[in-house]
Amino acid sequence: RRFEEINLSPEIQKGISAMGFEEMSPIQSQAIPVILEGKDIIGQAQTGTGKTAAFGIPILEMCDPNNKSLQALILCPTRELSIQVSEEIRKLGEYKKGIQVLPVYGGQPIERQIRTLKRGVQIVVGTPGRVIDHIRRKTLKLDNVNMMILDEADEMFDMGFRDDIGLVMDRLEENRQTIFFSATMPKEIIKFASKYQKDPEIVKV
Ligand code: AMP
Repeated sequence: RRFEEINLSPEIQKGISAMGFEEMSPIQSQAIPVILEGKDIIGQAQTGTGKTAAFGIPILEMCDPNNKSLQALILCPTRELSIQVSEEIRKLGEYKKGIQVLPVYGGQPIERQIRTLKRGVQIVVGTPGRVIDHIRRKTLKLDNVNMMILDEADEMFDMGFRDDIGLVMDRLEENRQTIFFSATMPKEIIKFASKYQKDPEIVKV
């Protein structure tokens, strides 16, 4: 299916076209409509399948540019992936004015991140440790987060981030949407997902 066949706003459609995307990849055609309906999803997909846009497009579609508070939080295993994911979302959202995307990871001076966060950022893509640091400093507020995304969940679990992720999840509002992407689905992840998701749609490519 083509992106034009689904109901996206013109500014998002324009961003997608500017990136040269026409046909949706299998994970995108399965996940985007489900996420747009507000449902939880657990998606098994490797890197290279287009999973970033699969969650990035619905996030951009649902973010309110007039609300300057954090609305979507994406957790990633590494600094590199945080940067890559936020770049892709920035590009896709280029024509939706007023949406700020920020990668947040350890090793970068925290003061600079704090200054940017203070100006208002709706989408944060971060590694678990640094995100928790910001939550503790109250430079990241979770009260308006309505979308929570775990990208490469298996990778993050392997790196020992499970408890950190749980800590973040426990602080979220009850009614948010929760999206998990993982290349593999070990029992540990299924169990974790069942604790934090409501009746998730399972998508595999
Ligand atoms: P990802 O799996 O999200 O890392 O994406 C892999 C690569 O495919 C990235 O370079 C994307 O920009 C690109 N990509 C994602 N979706 C599409 C699409 N529908 N058509 C063409 N390229 C895409």
